Amino acid sequence: MVFEAAHAIKEVGAGISLAPNGMRVLDSLGLAQKVAADVGEPIHTMHASRPDERTIVEFPTMAMERFGLPMIGVRRFRLLNVLLEAMQAADIPLQLGKRLHEIHQPPGSSSSDNSSSSSSSSSSTGPATLVFEDGSSSEADLVVGCDGLRSRTRAIVKGGAEPPPKYTGEEIVFAVTMDRNHDLVPPNTCRMVYGPGHKHFGTYGLGSDCSWFTSTARSSSSDSWGPVADAAAIEAVKSELADKFKGWGLVQRMLEREVAVMIRVGVFDRDPTPTWSSGVITLLGDAASPIPPNLGQGGNKALEDAGVLAACLARHQSNIHAALKQYESLRSKRAAALLRHSRSASSVANLQNPLAAAARDVLLRGIVATKGTIPSDWMWQYDCETAVAQG
Ligand SMILES: Cc1cc2nc3c(=O)[nH]c(=O)nc-3n(C[C@H](O)[C@H](O)[C@H](O)COP(=O)(O)OP(=O)(O)OC[C@H]3O[C@@H](n4cnc5c(N)ncnc54)[C@H](O)[C@@H]3O)c2cc1C
Repeated sequence: MVFEAAHAIKEVGAGISLAPNGMRVLDSLGLAQKVAADVGEPIHTMHASRPDERTIVEFPTMAMERFGLPMIGVRRFRLLNVLLEAMQAADIPLQLGKRLHEIHQPPGSSSSDNSSSSSSSSSSTGPATLVFEDGSSSEADLVVGCDGLRSRTRAIVKGGAEPPPKYTGEEIVFAVTMDRNHDLVPPNTCRMVYGPGHKHFGTYGLGSDCSWFTSTARSSSSDSWGPVADAAAIEAVKSELADKFKGWGLVQRMLEREVAVMIRVGVFDRDPTPTWSSGVITLLGDAASPIPPNLGQGGNKALEDAGVLAACLARHQSNIHAALKQYESLRSKRAAALLRHSRSASSVANLQNPLAAAARDVLLRGIVATKGTIPSDWMWQYDCETAVAQG
């Protein structure tokens, strides 16, 4: 059973890039081909340039050649629809308008108020009772909290003792255009623009439209940012960005193109934590370990989390505690590595010093000249079944 706070499933977010590690999980569900061929656009080429459009480096992702699965750009709601159809086909019920408020576990769990806290070593045997904001409740043998960055489940698991996610100082405007704009983004290509300076830009195709984003420094970010409401507000954000990205040719041209959806978000993360389960409750995706978007890995990691959790449950059969223990141990290490690399990727994209930016460009060209691509094997080759069998 899936409980979702939203009252309706509608357009959410903008685009998302899926890498072979995330696609492998979709493949295990029989969905990779549909996502790659029907609703998304494979990304075969990465092209990075300077604001004046001098090429820094261009290289093939070689995802298919190396991992047998492509990298994909896809509009989020199209991906969501594929997942919803698969849920329906598997008879997995979805209840909308169910915002989780509290979880009660039977005596034996570690918390004094009988809600949950602490680690997976807790001896609670379930079932747990989920209480929703509308007053309804439901029982579950296992609760998987995949309720995002500001997870209510996480607050319950951690007993409310944790500080909120940390603002990274980066703000992103993310948009989907009305048209595909092949003249700006060639087929199967992701284009990135790096300066010196604390800002960068990226764009990739989504099949019938394309996605672009700007990343800029901002000392604080409002929690209320989200979808940019209407055409007038979108024009205002565009003109703010045109100002911030003066002299960035590709950005200026993209800002002239019509936009279908725009969102504005601050980038937040959390330091890694080794435990995120309590009794029969665990966390998944951003709720467990949010990863800033600089490597495009947060969603891929959420898919990996799901793949590993399923494999752990299959391996340990009826022993939920053993399954959660292995899940947490495998995933906390992986999440910490992704977080570390994502933070480094942000520094490399936002180098302030022109000499450092020039050195970055030389280094990138050198790597591509020797390896033929930018190696990402450690990220992209991850296989959930293998990780669980070896772990
Ligand atoms: C600008 C930007 C660009 C990104 N680009 C990429 C990319 O290219 N590739 C990539 O892999 N990742 C990317 N990411 C990261 C990716 O979006 C997230 O890691 C991913 O969406 C996390 O999925 P999730 O299911 O854990 O959380 P979410 O996508 O946040 O979903 C949480 C769900 O829980 C629901 N919910 C919340 N609270 C409750 C409650 N109390 N009760 C019930 N339901 C609740 C919400 O309504 C929502 O449906 C990007 C992130 C940002 C901000």
